[in-house]
Amino acid sequence: MKLNELKLTNPYLSLPQECHDPVTPTPLKGPFLIHANEPFAEELGIDKEELHTGRFVEFVNGSWHPEGSNPFAMCYAGHQFGHYVPQLGDGRAVNIGTLNGWHFQLKGAGVTKYSRSGDGRAVLRSSIREYLMSEAMHGLHIETTRALAMIGSNHSVYRQEWEKGAIVLRLSPSWVRFGTFEYFAHKKHFDELKALTEYAIAESYPHLIGQNDRYIRFFEAVVACTAKLIAKWQAVGFNHGVMNTDNMSIAGLTIDYGPYAFLDVYDHNNICNHSDAYGRYSFGNQPDVAEWNLRALMTALSPLLDIHTMEEILSGYRTLYRTAYLDEMRQKLGLDTAEKGDMVFVKHLLGVLQALQVDYTLFFRALSRYDGEHKALLSLGLYHAPMQEWLESYDRRLEHNKSSTTERHEKMLQTNPKYVLKNYMLQEAIDAAEKGEYTRIDDLFQIARNPFAEHPKFECWAGHTPEEHRNTKLSCSS
Ligand code: AMP
Ligand code: MG
Repeated sequence: MKLNELKLTNPYLSLPQECHDPVTPTPLKGPFLIHANEPFAEELGIDKEELHTGRFVEFVNGSWHPEGSNPFAMCYAGHQFGHYVPQLGDGRAVNIGTLNGWHFQLKGAGVTKYSRSGDGRAVLRSSIREYLMSEAMHGLHIETTRALAMIGSNHSVYRQEWEKGAIVLRLSPSWVRFGTFEYFAHKKHFDELKALTEYAIAESYPHLIGQNDRYIRFFEAVVACTAKLIAKWQAVGFNHGVMNTDNMSIAGLTIDYGPYAFLDVYDHNNICNHSDAYGRYSFGNQPDVAEWNLRALMTALSPLLDIHTMEEILSGYRTLYRTAYLDEMRQKLGLDTAEKGDMVFVKHLLGVLQALQVDYTLFFRALSRYDGEHKALLSLGLYHAPMQEWLESYDRRLEHNKSSTTERHEKMLQTNPKYVLKNYMLQEAIDAAEKGEYTRIDDLFQIARNPFAEHPKFECWAGHTPEEHRNTKLSCSS
């Protein structure tokens, strides 16, 4: 499909007027393409040659609109660090329409009704982080929003200093957040709340359409999807960093990439967000915070649903999370049977990784080739008594496996990534981009797309994080 043939729809605009506000994107000055996601364009049915045209830059810059586009910003509220903020909304993201269930958004395309004191812009560094990490999560088979392209500009944007503005063209099967429900519930606008619930069911849980008990099944489904998503984050070592309820997707997707981090050395208490003084959004707290957020959603849905039934569903969250997490960890460990003591076994390992300050990703990748020879893990500096002791219990546990060692290795190498985009790697790409050099972005894009492959050319990114960059914190300012 050519860009001129694109025909977008706007299903969200069928919701009551209070849910959205029309907005005209404000294009950046001097826009140019930094990167385009050709494989994703193909998935969407857009010719990849089109991505390298001037028209496409105009499209991402919001200065050319495909047929049917009717730009708007979405309204939502949210609990930020536990405090309710009654009015948030798309302050810098402009929705430009929908194609085959994918909703297009321009992030950084200027002010909207919901910008508050913000400038509606996104800076280059945070745009690179969102663009690459959403594709990396997709490559890791973790539910996420996606990104089709990123443009840079000559447009100056002030944060702590002058920076350059950028726009990410991001797409999602849903942009509805827990906070979208909170907005209408707290205002007691129950007609809108009901309409939104019907919309979210149709958009993300269509199997529930028309069922009498669809609202309660909807809540149940959100609880289950959230538990599964967080289990995947914990298993892969992803710390989101800003799990405010406005950054929680009703469809169970990873959404709104900010000061996130992949763990370098394993640290249960890792805090990646500089503003998170008390570790509310620390790595180890993510499963509990997700439950807290689900409780906020439950409260928002209470005008529509019996609170006791919802309480009962929510009380099942921990078991859902635990089951999903154990499934993930068994796969990471190459265990093809489930046993009673598995959580203790996993916690034992995590305790050892924490104590010995072992790189989380490197450890599991090395373990994916483990053949009973303890010394093989020496390269990671793991030849210590606590690891030795854990390996002995692993040896015993592997004896119960049904698959052969070769089969286990094959599966583990497809489960444990060789590459994750650690913050120091992203920072290298950002530093280069800020000097006008964009090839690193494509390099990281290649490993993000297929993190389980060897990529001999990019071996430099498969090693330890340089000491000074380990488990550092990032600022929210973006
Ligand atoms: P975030 O931290 O990106 O999830 O944003 C939290 C809220 O602040 C959302 O409502 C955003 O739309 C809004 N926001 C963040 N940065 C800006 C900005 N530069 N201009 C306007 N609104 C913003
Ligand atoms: Mg957000």
